[in-house]
Amino acid sequence: MTKFPVDTPDHLPMLDILRDHMLDAVYLIDPASSKILWVNKAGYEDLLMEESEVLHHSVLSLQKDVVGLAQWQSIAEVIRQSGQFTFVGRHQRKDGSEFPVEVNTSVLHHNGQEFFISIARDITTRRAQEAESQGREQQIWFALNACADGIWDWQLSSDKVYFSTPLKRMLGYGPDEMQPVVETWKQSVHPHDLPQVWQALEEHIHGQRERYEAVYRLRNRNGHYIWVHDLGSISERDETGKPCRVTGMVKDITDYKQQEFKLLELAAYDELTRLRNRRECSRILDKQLEFARRHDQPLSICLFDFDHFKAINDQYGHLAGDHILSEAAARLSAGLRRSDYLFRWGGEEFVLISVNTDLQAMKAITEKLRGQLEQIEFNYDGHQLQITGSFGLASYPAQGNSRSALLLAADSALYRAKSLGRNCIQVADVEPIF
Ligand code: GH3
Ligand code: MG
Ligand code: MG
Repeated sequence: MTKFPVDTPDHLPMLDILRDHMLDAVYLIDPASSKILWVNKAGYEDLLMEESEVLHHSVLSLQKDVVGLAQWQSIAEVIRQSGQFTFVGRHQRKDGSEFPVEVNTSVLHHNGQEFFISIARDITTRRAQEAESQGREQQIWFALNACADGIWDWQLSSDKVYFSTPLKRMLGYGPDEMQPVVETWKQSVHPHDLPQVWQALEEHIHGQRERYEAVYRLRNRNGHYIWVHDLGSISERDETGKPCRVTGMVKDITDYKQQEFKLLELAAYDELTRLRNRRECSRILDKQLEFARRHDQPLSICLFDFDHFKAINDQYGHLAGDHILSEAAARLSAGLRRSDYLFRWGGEEFVLISVNTDLQAMKAITEKLRGQLEQIEFNYDGHQLQITGSFGLASYPAQGNSRSALLLAADSALYRAKSLGRNCIQVADVEPIF
């Protein structure tokens, strides 16, 4: 073992330990000649050499990336100026093989002489890990692309967004179209959907939501909207923990949405009369009552039932009854205001909801309806048929404060109309206050 050429107190056994057990290679270099003056164990073993083979050789003999003394001198100058210098390069072993190293060089002055101390770390494993994680990232992107119809990757600081080619294709654009900025996406989102979608995204970025998820409409190249399901998450944070990147995947759910709309329509409408059904009546009445309450507006309902309808079925057959039901529904709806809702409550019973309508106004509307119904001539199988109806009215707030109270009040008024001879209108009693 050579003595460390820089004078050190003999009682520094620490240096021996470092020399023999330090995992990184350490070289003491004379900058002027580029000669290696001292090397630790790792320093020569890394190169598959004996200590003597390394000592007093030029540092250039182990550097693959530094060629010639002139280049070394210019590097030495940079090291001198910065006092400490790190570079990543390759070292060459005795057998000619190479390995990547990160070399940290510091300048040392001792007794008027200048030295460089280079600590070289073999970064083969780190490189392999980086390559592996890069490979893995690519695989993840590949899998994401396969699972979604499109992928986006948003750099929050620059507002730059990467839109994947399949995402562009989904919207009818070519790979070189769609400016990679967040504004491009914002302009494609349906204006009605944008506020909620943007809010969901912001809430995620500000930590109020576990992840970003939204279902909304996106405009494609030819101006049509498609329905998408968008799922994303913060994918990178800066040193302070602040989100700096959000990544997401989009799926085209237009077909699914259209099916859903069809099912919703099927569930909401009556097949025979094409009117909204009883369930919808309950839902809309609740909603409109809530609105009336909030805006201090009246609301009226009318429950009506065809008179002696059973006789029609008995005399002309069930199909005749069906024909009248669907025909009457179409004719009566045509005469209503756009803000009125007509429902098939069940059998030959119907409900009319008139928003922002008081009892007086409702009486007029119902009178028109009653007159209209008795005037209709239904043609069925060569027969000219006519019917009448009995009507029960109730208004919010006087005759009922809730859906069930209003319906009950209107039903009892209807019952009274039947008992008073039919083809007439009766108003519910004022709701008793307990
Ligand atoms: P009222 O004046 O007292 O109401 O007499 P009504 O005969 O109308 O008596 P009710 O309301 O009790 O009977 C309703 C009838 O309407 C019974 C049923 O045969 C008939 N009906 C109910 N739904 C339908 C339907 O979808 N199609 C046909 N064709 N008939 C129906
Ligand atoms: Mg009836
Ligand atoms: Mg009935």
